[in-house]
Amino acid sequence: MGQSDLQAGACLCGASRFEFDGSAVVSAHHCHCRDCQRSTGSSMTTIVLVPDSSFRELEGDVGDFTVTGESGGQVTRCFCRQCGSPLYSHVSIMPGVKFVKAAALEDASWVQPISSFWTSSAQPWGHVDTAIDGFERNPAG
Ligand SMILES: [Zn+2]
Ligand SMILES: [Zn+2]
Repeated sequence: MGQSDLQAGACLCGASRFEFDGSAVVSAHHCHCRDCQRSTGSSMTTIVLVPDSSFRELEGDVGDFTVTGESGGQVTRCFCRQCGSPLYSHVSIMPGVKFVKAAALEDASWVQPISSFWTSSAQPWGHVDTAIDGFERNPAG
């Protein structure tokens, strides 16, 4: 893991921390699905796809909650048990990758979302970036 591209993330209380190699990032996306809205309390969440092999949990009291998604696959959302901050998710249809919440990063200014998921459930009061690709549901189903 190159020190120069080390990205650090943490929850609100600081009890849960992680890091990953920024050069290994696959892509970044916005998600407007109802589950992301509910779990973040916002109109959407922004995620950064990081391979498990480049991701390291440093410390923390991380809980998880799993639901069955529309596709039938399992979506597991991981959060800090002490303060409730969402940290990352993983999905059974895409093993080996973590969907890291961009807002958990110490510095998220470099994140460049390339598309939006679930525009069909976007809120009228939530901004959908029309300058990037939009998918009504998940891009791959
Ligand atoms: Zn916390
Ligand atoms: Zn979502």
